[in-house]
Amino acid sequence: MIIDCHTHVNRYEDESAAALPECLDRLLTSMRRNRVDAALVLTSYTVNPGRPSTRDVVAATAHLPNVHVVAGLSWSTFSSADVEDLRTLLDAKAIKALKIYPGYEPFYPADRRLAPAYELAEAYDVPVMIHSGDTYAPRGKVKYSHPLHVDDVAVDFPRVRFLICHLGNPWFRDCMEVIYKNDNVYTDISGLVLGNFTDRFEAYMRQQFKEMVSWGINPAKVLYGTDWPISSMESYLQFMDELPLPPSDREMMLHENAARLFKLDVAPKATGLRSILNRF
Ligand SMILES: [Zn+2]
Repeated sequence: MIIDCHTHVNRYEDESAAALPECLDRLLTSMRRNRVDAALVLTSYTVNPGRPSTRDVVAATAHLPNVHVVAGLSWSTFSSADVEDLRTLLDAKAIKALKIYPGYEPFYPADRRLAPAYELAEAYDVPVMIHSGDTYAPRGKVKYSHPLHVDDVAVDFPRVRFLICHLGNPWFRDCMEVIYKNDNVYTDISGLVLGNFTDRFEAYMRQQFKEMVSWGINPAKVLYGTDWPISSMESYLQFMDELPLPPSDREMMLHENAARLFKLDVAPKATGLRSILNRF
């Protein structure tokens, strides 16, 4: 089973063209082709035709049991109305987590303006995903997206589970330290490449992974994700295949950790199939 914990239905090439429903159709096609059982779709910090709102994505995916929504927040416009909106979505179980975008917006994760969002995450026991590391857009400011800043908010809100997206790329060691030190911090491996891995970069990332494993990173804290459509699902699955991981760790990363962290109700298809076959 595979759960991709980090995808988008944004249209990055032309934000003036409507992303829905086309990008969602493309996501479903890519999931089918790559045998991905479930995906989390993360909405943006900004809303325009190419970046649909959380409510629009919730409505568009309501009939899809294997697509779950993570609500993107905007630090720059965050208000009490947003808190009420999120509360309604959480009450309806329409979103599985929150996502913030330091770096894309100029703030540190521990900024007090977002405290009401963290209090909500604690009350509803949903994780907070945090963009970290490099920004896809050159106008981002990466000092804000350094993974070390996640330590601050993880200490301030010990009962909230935080997820550092993209392994803190390229600050892998800092990311590892924050995960190692804080029980409530996780990471995903998404967004390490634009499109496909090149041989050289793949070798470099494999080396980083080996270092993480020998350093003793807890495999229960690493989640599989791609950042699709920015990174390709094919390339990511191939990268996972080639990582020197014990099978049990691979299973944890590919689906078990995500199912537990986001409380996803996903029935393992293989087991279902086996139980049907056993009847014959
Ligand atoms: Zn992303």
